[in-house]
Amino acid sequence: MRDATKIIRSTLTRTMAGEPLHAGPVFAAPFHTPGDPTDTPYSYARSHNPTWTALEKTIGQMESGQLASGEPYRASALVFASGMAACAAVFGAVLRPGDVVLLSSNAYFAARVLLQEYFAKMGVEVRTSLTEAALPDKQLKGVRLLWIESPSNPTMDVYDIAALSQAAHRAGALVAVDNTTPTPLGQLPLALGADFSVASDTKSMTGHSDLLLGHVAVRDLELRAKLDQWRTLTGGILGPMEAWLALRSIATLPLRLERSCENAQRIAEFLATRDEVVSVLYPGLPIHPGHAVAVKQMRYFGPVLSFVLRNKGAAETFLAKSKLLTEATSFGGVTTTAERRARWGGDTIAEGFIRMSAGCEAVEDLIEDIAQALDSIR
Ligand code: PLP
Repeated sequence: MRDATKIIRSTLTRTMAGEPLHAGPVFAAPFHTPGDPTDTPYSYARSHNPTWTALEKTIGQMESGQLASGEPYRASALVFASGMAACAAVFGAVLRPGDVVLLSSNAYFAARVLLQEYFAKMGVEVRTSLTEAALPDKQLKGVRLLWIESPSNPTMDVYDIAALSQAAHRAGALVAVDNTTPTPLGQLPLALGADFSVASDTKSMTGHSDLLLGHVAVRDLELRAKLDQWRTLTGGILGPMEAWLALRSIATLPLRLERSCENAQRIAEFLATRDEVVSVLYPGLPIHPGHAVAVKQMRYFGPVLSFVLRNKGAAETFLAKSKLLTEATSFGGVTTTAERRARWGGDTIAEGFIRMSAGCEAVEDLIEDIAQALDSIR
């Protein structure tokens, strides 16, 4: 079956006359647990909840695939209260004092700050020297966890996941990929050899800008058990209502992703023709330095694109003049959004740097609007 069929059919309940097609959220703290608690799949909802299970089944199926050797694998997914909770779970499950984590200096800033402000102070060595070129084995020596974000947010750098995973495994390191921008429909990190596929599902996965969610998917059940224990012990968990809303939203991911990625491509191509634009960063453009790797490892280039206008003033005027680019952070929703990213600090980017997330509106309207906003900064 194709993705859209698999995802939509996986959200159905068993056929039972008179029962709803889709299960509702299960609101419970304790569950009936007579006798030996290990006989019961659900005992207390900080550990597990049937609505999470339904969502995890769907996400696990999306993350499953075939390794480069052709061998099929089944992924297992765990859901978290946010993308950052998912990142923290991987760090917490893997890293111990004396371990080394290697990531790039442009990985999502909150993940970087969490490592630098907390894990580094508990004895983990944090190296931010990962570059786009495949790593020499020397640089991976002693590394416990390689953290890759591809394409990276907001600079859209593309890392060769298969090459980096092979090099990391040779050096005995585990590999995690933050796969937020493409989603598993756009890119399958586990099939490319990574050990963890991590995402903020607040973005395209759920796509309606109305909930926070994260997940981690793995092939290895021992790693799963460690993440599961971390989630139960730290306890900052996802509520059943969010899990249920997410499951409803994911059923339309194939439609939303196809449309928003097509819109992103058309907008990037249009921006590249305009003199007011200093540069456009989108892996779907042949001029992007990571295009060849992106073509090899991605099925969709994602809804996020970045571009640089000449300075802060030009970027602010452009956003103010646009009628259809809703000024907001985050990305991956059905509504097209944009922001001057340097207003937050934390990333090494130009003052005129804009990150845009293409939504699902008619692309002709978006391009007309962008054109008139660019005219205003000529
Ligand atoms: N990873 C990436 C690449 C992100 O862009 C974000 C949020 O913007 C996160 C992780 C964190 O996700 P959340 O905001 O759901 O905690």
